[in-house]
Amino acid sequence: MAGLIKDEDIATVRERARIDEVVSEHVTLRNAGGGSMKGLCPFHDEKTPSFHVTPSRGYYHCFGCQAGGDVIKFVMEVEGLGFAEAVERLADKVGIQLRYTEGDAPGPRRDPGQRARLIEAHRLAQEFYADQLTTPDAMAARQFLGERGFDRDAAETFGLGFAPRGGEALLHHLRQKGFRVEELVTAGLVAQGRSAYDRFRGRLLWPIRETNGDTIGFGARRIFDDDRIDAKYLNTPESPIYKKSTVLYGVDLARKEIARSSQAVVVEGYTDVMACHLAGVGTAVASCGTAFGEEHGRVLRRLLHDHADFRGEIIFTFDGDEAGQKAAMKAFEGDQQFASQTYVAVEPDGLDPCDLRLAKGDAAVRELVARRIPLYRFVLGNLVQGFDLDRADGRIDALRRAARLVTSVRDRSKVDAFARELAGMVGVDVEEARREVRRAAARGPEQADQRRGRVLVEEPPAPAPRPDVPDPRDPRFAVERETLKLVVQHPAAVGTTAADLGPDDFAHPHYRAIWEAVAAAGGPAAVRSPESWPASLAAALTDPAASATLGALAVEPLRSLREPDADYVAAHVYGLQEVTTQRRIADLKSRLQRTNPVDQAADYNKMFGDLVALEQHRRTLREKAVGGE
Ligand code: ZN
Repeated sequence: MAGLIKDEDIATVRERARIDEVVSEHVTLRNAGGGSMKGLCPFHDEKTPSFHVTPSRGYYHCFGCQAGGDVIKFVMEVEGLGFAEAVERLADKVGIQLRYTEGDAPGPRRDPGQRARLIEAHRLAQEFYADQLTTPDAMAARQFLGERGFDRDAAETFGLGFAPRGGEALLHHLRQKGFRVEELVTAGLVAQGRSAYDRFRGRLLWPIRETNGDTIGFGARRIFDDDRIDAKYLNTPESPIYKKSTVLYGVDLARKEIARSSQAVVVEGYTDVMACHLAGVGTAVASCGTAFGEEHGRVLRRLLHDHADFRGEIIFTFDGDEAGQKAAMKAFEGDQQFASQTYVAVEPDGLDPCDLRLAKGDAAVRELVARRIPLYRFVLGNLVQGFDLDRADGRIDALRRAARLVTSVRDRSKVDAFARELAGMVGVDVEEARREVRRAAARGPEQADQRRGRVLVEEPPAPAPRPDVPDPRDPRFAVERETLKLVVQHPAAVGTTAADLGPDDFAHPHYRAIWEAVAAAGGPAAVRSPESWPASLAAALTDPAASATLGALAVEPLRSLREPDADYVAAHVYGLQEVTTQRRIADLKSRLQRTNPVDQAADYNKMFGDLVALEQHRRTLREKAVGGE
């Protein structure tokens, strides 16, 4: 680690960097009397100025959004920099050579003034490349832009350029301007092999700029088939001024709009940033040559002026494919503060903003961003979709899994809202979702830690594979089991009472298979020889696990001690049908909850009618089961 900046030098920077001058680069200030100046706040949207600067005290304050501080704070906030970086930036500006305390291991020697040289080299390089874009050699580059809906104005707005194919044009140009080869290598503009040569050759270039508009690097796209470098995109390597973990393409253009609207849109590529800005989404940025990471998030948060009471929105656009879902899931389980302010804008056809603008116009890009959904909803939605919500057990499993995720949200105030949302998604009562979330919370923390791998014990061994025989005590299948026991052990007592039973009355696959064998043999009423009845059923079963289950049903005592009479049979057979009807009612209610009565009025009304009929049917079965007939 390089040392810290010496305190005396920080104080000198504070003294010498005049706050009114620094602020004036971003805000038009006019005299407000009493030694103060005021202007429109760069940190919030306003029509009348409430942003005050008092040069004699070296301080700024906004009466609208309460932003305030000294000159260093201002640079940090307005340019999205950390403290040391802001001090370095100001020191460069006012010509102070900073001194550093010794760190544990001395970092690279800082070369005061180097930053200014590298920035100047990039400024000249950008101009040079932009000029080249108009030459005949750059035809392919212009064509690439044209095909994506970018005209000459757009190219100028974004400062696009073309790197000539020769390989020494920029090197010569900058040497003529007095730059040494070593400086250009440090800047990443030139590479050094046996001799020095331009890093970018025969490529379309996007200048990558800092918040203040200084160019610090380039992104370069392959446009020629004979390009010896296969990579579609090349980027400036790490340099004293270019750190890919913090660099955001488009931040120079987006900075003000991000602060004003408290919203930042993260897209994937240079053309997507351009498309967004041209379509009116002026808050779009992209990471360059690397995935959007934690440090990028920090830069955005500073630009959003996040503080305890207020958080802006960070909106990611990505397609709903598996990679995107995984990324979202990771974000959700990672930094919670970040997750709670993160939104996702998913384009249903999987188009990126550039293609979307091309296919459907500017408005479609704005709509994509406007249709953003909270990250947690996106993640919950994906999770829940993996379950069969038309089945009661599917809904229970979905609820359990999602409840665990909801409890991982540390912001307690959000949990109830999430539970409500979850109820709507799965199609269950809000109370039921809340109960499940509370239950998951009670078990929660250890599980979360295990998931994070914090406890480095070996994974629990996978349960040994055993035949999936239904648990005799599983209350979900109790009536099914007892009814089948009656059918297998006492076919004559059951007789025609079971005439209306069907495979759907049996939720467990083994019970269902056994019933199907019963039905195929003509049902219990057709049994001639009760002694061989179980064996003939077993012969009809192909699944050995189902045969094992049948064996258990044939010998397991009934839950009643007396001989099964008509009441006992009716209670089970009709009771079972009632359970089935109840399940269908629950399924239908769940679907109703997930159906929009306005948009899908016909479906909704049909389902509602079915529901009324089912309720009636259920009452009839209930009466038969309790022997009312
Ligand atoms: Zn303000």
